Amino acid sequence: MKNTLKKITILTLVLLFLLYGCKSNDSQNSLKLVKEVDFVLGTMGRINVLSESEEDGRRAIAKAFDRVREIENKMSTSIAGSDVYLLNENAGNNYITVDKETLYVINKGLEYYELTGGDFNISIGALINLWGIGKTNKVPSQENIHAAMENIDINAINIDNQSVRIDIPNVQIDLGGIAKGYAVDEAIKVLRENGIKSGLVDLGGDIYAFGKKADDSSWNVGIQDPEKGANPIASIPLTDKSIVTSGDYERFFMEDNIRYHHIIDPKTGYPVRNDLRSVTIISDLSIDGDVLSTAVFIMGLEKGMSLIESLDGVETLIITNDKKIYTSSGLKDQLNILNDSYEEREL
Ligand code: ADP
Ligand code: MG
Repeated sequence: MKNTLKKITILTLVLLFLLYGCKSNDSQNSLKLVKEVDFVLGTMGRINVLSESEEDGRRAIAKAFDRVREIENKMSTSIAGSDVYLLNENAGNNYITVDKETLYVINKGLEYYELTGGDFNISIGALINLWGIGKTNKVPSQENIHAAMENIDINAINIDNQSVRIDIPNVQIDLGGIAKGYAVDEAIKVLRENGIKSGLVDLGGDIYAFGKKADDSSWNVGIQDPEKGANPIASIPLTDKSIVTSGDYERFFMEDNIRYHHIIDPKTGYPVRNDLRSVTIISDLSIDGDVLSTAVFIMGLEKGMSLIESLDGVETLIITNDKKIYTSSGLKDQLNILNDSYEEREL
């Protein structure tokens, strides 16, 4: 009896050893890190995955980039024939039947208009076109800014089932503050559907990290230095989360020592001028992070922080001009500051 028990115990131990042996072999040694970059949505996109074979990894990444391009072809303001292009072209005129997912993103944009008290406004197109940040480097005339502000009206976006019409001529939709986040979420879906269990998608600062790295640790996502230094100023370990940053240093021009950048306050008609350099949002979906990073940037430190504290499952990290880092309550103790000219402060 005793002997049999001993044999079973040894056999179990051997089996366990074999199982664990195999498992650690699988998750650590056989997975390959496959990386690709591609120009999408006006930015350098980066996708990294862990894959059993290099070929499978590359195939999954290519499908994910194709999906992002599909979204760009529906939501870009400049691609002739896109849903948004047709809506804008037909402003004050016809209803346009748009794709389901364009409608989803437009509806999300409308919800966020309410949540942000109008600071996030997808009917801002006339003002975005006038400023043309990244294309022109000149402050528009006061007169033209006023004229463009007259053409911002969220209520002009009229939805009837699958069809949308902009009721007022010259009101223009711009999904530049939301579509990229949506594209990240969809790229992640495609990777998962193609058997990828771990990876990172980065579309110009809209990032999602999923699964674990080969050594079973979390992905460490760096927070970019607003001074554009080569090294991140801080890092945060993340698994299955989106992390999106909006800053005044990505697209801008300088005139009379003032930085004119691409986040525009629809209530003033000018690029936001407050004491913020960048806003990072951590959330479950990138579509929310994309909008909220832009909106909190406009709202400023106090108002922005209190909006984030009121939302479940959303955290923020805000960097100010005087190199202070403010984090929402759920982020305390998770941040590794890597650059000692920055310091953490309580609000
Ligand atoms: P990035 O594209 O660098 O990630 P953001 O996510 O901060 O930057 O979004 C900026 C873009 O959002 C602008 O280029 C413009 O298309 C759009 N945008 C700017 N201001 C607003 C606003 N107040 N409401 C909605 N969209 C905006
Ligand atoms: Mg954004």
